[in-house]
Amino acid sequence: MIQSMLYIDGKWMQSASGTTREIINPFDGEVIATVPEGCREDARAAIHAARIAFDEGGWPQTPAAERGRLLFHLADLIERDREELARLESLDTGKTVEESRWDMDDIVGIFRYFAGLADKDGGEVISSPIPDSTSTLVREPVGVCGQISPWNYPLLQASWKMAPALAAGCTIVMKPSEITPLTTLKVTELAEEAGFPPGVVNTVLGPGAEVGAELAENPDVDLISFTGGIATGKTIMRSAAENVKKVALELGGKNPNIIFDDADLELAVDYALNGVFFHAGQICSAGARVMVQEGIHDRFVEALHQRMAAIKIGNGFDETTQMGPLISAEHLAKVEGYVEIAQKEGAKLMLGGYRPEDPELANGFFFLPTLFSECKNDMRIVQEEVFGPVITVERFSTEDEAVERANSTIYGLSAGFWTSDPNRMERVSKRLRFGTVWINDFNVYFVQAPWGGYKQSGLGRELGAMGLEEYTEVKHIYRNHATKPLNWFGVKVE
Ligand code: NAD
Repeated sequence: MIQSMLYIDGKWMQSASGTTREIINPFDGEVIATVPEGCREDARAAIHAARIAFDEGGWPQTPAAERGRLLFHLADLIERDREELARLESLDTGKTVEESRWDMDDIVGIFRYFAGLADKDGGEVISSPIPDSTSTLVREPVGVCGQISPWNYPLLQASWKMAPALAAGCTIVMKPSEITPLTTLKVTELAEEAGFPPGVVNTVLGPGAEVGAELAENPDVDLISFTGGIATGKTIMRSAAENVKKVALELGGKNPNIIFDDADLELAVDYALNGVFFHAGQICSAGARVMVQEGIHDRFVEALHQRMAAIKIGNGFDETTQMGPLISAEHLAKVEGYVEIAQKEGAKLMLGGYRPEDPELANGFFFLPTLFSECKNDMRIVQEEVFGPVITVERFSTEDEAVERANSTIYGLSAGFWTSDPNRMERVSKRLRFGTVWINDFNVYFVQAPWGGYKQSGLGRELGAMGLEEYTEVKHIYRNHATKPLNWFGVKVE
């Protein structure tokens, strides 16, 4: 059984508010845990502990190799408890346990990657233009970091933040989504077991508008890293502006998947499913906006329809299930709302559009795989993030039209396109304004490459070497070793 408490300054404790929250399994609406509901006072206590650990506790001065060793140890513990963590993640989110196992393997890799990077930066020597001087650059930890994660990939998103921050020598206050805190709590327990000093890792549960807002507003937090919705991201950025704290934002996306006439049809259909139906489409990089060139359009839509109709939805613990429920009743209502809007806007509903009728799924937050064709660029269903198992298909005729339309969005997280023409691969990948562009694939990411958005999809990058740099400040150290006086204004000092 995992601790159902807050973790502040190396101690497990109840919330100062004394209130609790029930954590619900989205598969059947059953309560799976009761956890303390943290409040601003708890967040302030955690920030204070992280501040002391940073300023006086010696964590930033701990040799980077030692910080790396602790992170390697934590990765080993996550690997040891992989099955328990995967099952917990599936209970909390409804996603298939197989998918959660992949998440856990990724997470182990993320901790190992940043553990290995921790001691690789030796600074830089700059070629100083001034004689008799030495100029060096060093990277130092940014300080106390507030880290706010969402509910769709609870532990994966938390690990993108925890691992580089700790490797860099920062101290952290984690705030998981209030509806999916269980795996973050478990990993906090493992961090304690691994031997991170008190105050270095703190975890506070609770609502975003209280605990998250305190992290964004509090002047003792040096950096706020947030993954979540665009509206929340804007609020956090405004709060952070009050004391000009560093901000890293991973926000939403509306990610085009463009299929040109010369694509391999079978592969493109197969990967289009891969692009959307993981975790019932609740992925920031879901390729939910499919754009198909007219020569291949009808065959593509027909094949997609057939494959989508065969997706098996159900209990994530049943090995044959391919897609689980949505996260909550509230989110289900949002997705249903978008389906209604799309129909009013004139999109053609070809499949799904409602909840499954299977009585076994009646208490869960299920929604059928849904396909709209004949969609237009200016429809809300095309422009806004639905975050559900819904694909919209638009028809296009030329490459220019496809690129212009794909770019005509406020988002810029990821895009993919399918073609067999190498020249088009070069042209189109350069013109698409997205942080990640996939050619003949969709939804691939790995820890070695940076991840983040253009435009309103965010600020900064996670993962890769850049993911570590986000948690550092750069200091220029200049040393004068001239021995001759300057003799200002020709006056000699005797
Ligand atoms: P959300 O914005 O509602 O919540 C995210 C987190 O922010 C939660 O922990 C929540 O408690 C907290 N929060 C809410 N209000 C807050 C406030 N006023 N101040 C501070 N914190 C606050 O998002 P969500 O619904 O949990 O997650 C879904 C969103 O996350 C989608 O838009 C998705 O695209 C985005 N996302 C982006 C990425 C990426 O890498 N770009 C990855 C995963 C999810």
